[in-house]
Amino acid sequence: MLKEVWMQVGLEKIDSHEGVSVKALLDSGATGMFADKKFVEKNGFKLERLDRPVRIRNVDGTGNSGGLVTHEIEVNVYYRGHVERMRLDVCDLGRTDVILGMPWLAAHNPEINWETGEVKMTRCPPLCGKNKERKEKRELGKKKKREAEEEAAIRWAADEKEDWGREEEMEMDHRKIEGMVPRRFHR
Ligand SMILES: [Zn+2]
Repeated sequence: MLKEVWMQVGLEKIDSHEGVSVKALLDSGATGMFADKKFVEKNGFKLERLDRPVRIRNVDGTGNSGGLVTHEIEVNVYYRGHVERMRLDVCDLGRTDVILGMPWLAAHNPEINWETGEVKMTRCPPLCGKNKERKEKRELGKKKKREAEEEAAIRWAADEKEDWGREEEMEMDHRKIEGMVPRRFHR
């Protein structure tokens, strides 16, 4: 029987964009997001000192639960097209490299199959990378279309203006209609 749920995620360093693949433990008993000190050092993540050390509770047994966290790392986390910027508290997690705790679970509310351990990010908030990227792309598409339409309207207006000077008004109207109907439908 399945005892724990893990996610194979990619962590990208913010400065060098170097990626590290890691198994993250989903732990509803953890009060934050954590990275193991040895893992962080071995992979050369840039440590950032916390302004104030934080006391931690409830990390997976083996480590220094109840110890102080003095540093964190900032990474981009990738999982099946899902991407987000995250700060992980650095502490001794024993044999676990990364823990995603309750705040993360509550924020993303992933769909977890407790039989197979499969995790799907189907209920993410709108701010999540995947959704955000899609939204941005959609907005960009709309903007491009709008710009093209405006440009066409301006061009049409400019053509109109040119014609005004040298053609009769009746002729003008006729041309306008022709312009609107595809050529193959002209009589
Ligand atoms: Zn998400």
